[in-house]
Amino acid sequence: MSLLSSYWEGFIKKLGEKEDKNSVLPSLLKQAKIVSLTDNIITLSVVSQGAYDFLEKRIDKIETDFFNHSQQRIEIKFLIKAPSKKNIIPPLLSFEPSIEDVFVKSGLNKKYNFDNFAVSTTNQVAYAASQAVVKNPGSAYNPLFLYGGVGVGKTHIAQSIAKKILEADRNKRVYFCPGDNFTNELIESIREKATGRFRKKYRYLNLLIVDDIQFIAGKNAVQEEFFHTFNAIASAGGQIILTSDRPPSAIKNLEDRLHSRFLGGLTVDIQPPDFELRSAILLIKAKEKGVDIDIEAVKIIAERITDCRGLEGALLSIYAKVLGIKDKIDLEAVEMFFSQNNTEKKKRVNPSEVIKTVCSFYNIKQSHLKSPSRAASIAFYRQITMYLLEKELGLTLVEAAGILNRKDHTTALHAKQKISNLILRDPNLKKEIDIITQSLFQST
Ligand code: ADP
Ligand code: MG
Repeated sequence: MSLLSSYWEGFIKKLGEKEDKNSVLPSLLKQAKIVSLTDNIITLSVVSQGAYDFLEKRIDKIETDFFNHSQQRIEIKFLIKAPSKKNIIPPLLSFEPSIEDVFVKSGLNKKYNFDNFAVSTTNQVAYAASQAVVKNPGSAYNPLFLYGGVGVGKTHIAQSIAKKILEADRNKRVYFCPGDNFTNELIESIREKATGRFRKKYRYLNLLIVDDIQFIAGKNAVQEEFFHTFNAIASAGGQIILTSDRPPSAIKNLEDRLHSRFLGGLTVDIQPPDFELRSAILLIKAKEKGVDIDIEAVKIIAERITDCRGLEGALLSIYAKVLGIKDKIDLEAVEMFFSQNNTEKKKRVNPSEVIKTVCSFYNIKQSHLKSPSRAASIAFYRQITMYLLEKELGLTLVEAAGILNRKDHTTALHAKQKISNLILRDPNLKKEIDIITQSLFQST
């Protein structure tokens, strides 16, 4: 060790004793590494710009202090040198991420698991299949293709499988991917010329779930990439789970080779929830939210609201209404909710919206509808309008006729009877009227 370097070390030690305890200067200097020493120049390296700036400003002071300490006049230089990877000291305890962190990283939502999933006749086959996949991922059914309408629990079940597999082994590479995300991510990676990264992310997974796979249909590059992703994962023994709102055969513009891949495992449909399942789901959701609810109230809600998403929404709005008034949801609260809901609906829509909606649905002019013309083609739409005015808005027959410039209320009565009868016989007309009614009350 040269004389200068031993002087330097002595100096730093002294400085540590002399300086204020809060001063960072001694520790920064201690961390700085000697890069080179000549007779009177000492060059030190620091690891960050911040440390460099801090020390640079104090060079004069350091040189003076050093002179006072050793009677040697030296020049000090600093430079920045990032630490090389292998010099980084490993932490004493390696950090083990919590299972929740692993779930988040895998794209999973904490809402869904098998513990809060109710099984009934409408979903029991899907449930059984999902248990088989949990037990033997990659070999039981590959892919597992779950399909069914909105809100039947596809996402819930798929995420629950992923969690079970991760709980058994959190080192498994699991990824839950909404179908449109797969598309967007691929397009972006092509644009950024980073398809390599995309492939690395997807092709080495132990479990890939693509939720709502129907989104990739009709997009050639995406289907091509997904085909290879599928093959890479499956041939390495990984599991693939797909969900869709319809069976593979009903996905339009789906490549044949993908279609046959999708059918290569097990395809299961999930039916809309029956009354029992809807009741069970309501009870689960109420418990999760800490909402007290009477069983009679559960039954009424489950009877009237037939889709799962609606159940949760109704539960929340009823609860919001009784909050502060009652400590639980009872029959009275439910009754209040449904009656208010109906009157609110009826009040919101006015006659001109009905006219507008009918006209835009059938592509006719509003002025024709209100004109005195008796042409049969237009008369029919007039009757539909009067029917809706009476049925959905609760107008009297006289009012309904008046709005369409008809003086005689019997035209409205006739319209009501005719359309009511037709709806019973003609499912297409019923569908049309349903759509018009729905859009009436949906648009605000
Ligand atoms: P999908 O993906 O089929 O549209 P989701 O999985 O999003 O349906 O389910 C909609 C809502 O209904 C979610 O809040 C979900 O938790 C709930 N749900 C559906 N089926 C069940 C079930 N069998 N048990 C418990 N909750 C369910
Ligand atoms: Mg879904």
